[in-house]
Amino acid sequence: MKRVTREEFVLTKCPICGGEEFAFACQAGYGALTSDDSLLKTAPLRHQICTQCGTVVRSFVDNPKKLLKR
Ligand SMILES: [Zn+2]
Repeated sequence: MKRVTREEFVLTKCPICGGEEFAFACQAGYGALTSDDSLLKTAPLRHQICTQCGTVVRSFVDNPKKLLKR
């Protein structure tokens, strides 16, 4: 399966206000996602944010497989 990256899949229009300008932010440290399987498996949570209304239109992690059970 093709890996979807931030660059390949970006929402181009805000579903709330129709804005077309976005900022990207990363939630790391204690705000990072922790796997249900292990507290040691974490991944920074990234957000795509509409700069017009502030809505987070998409949240994702760069390496979701890091959260898998091994
Ligand atoms: Zn918006």
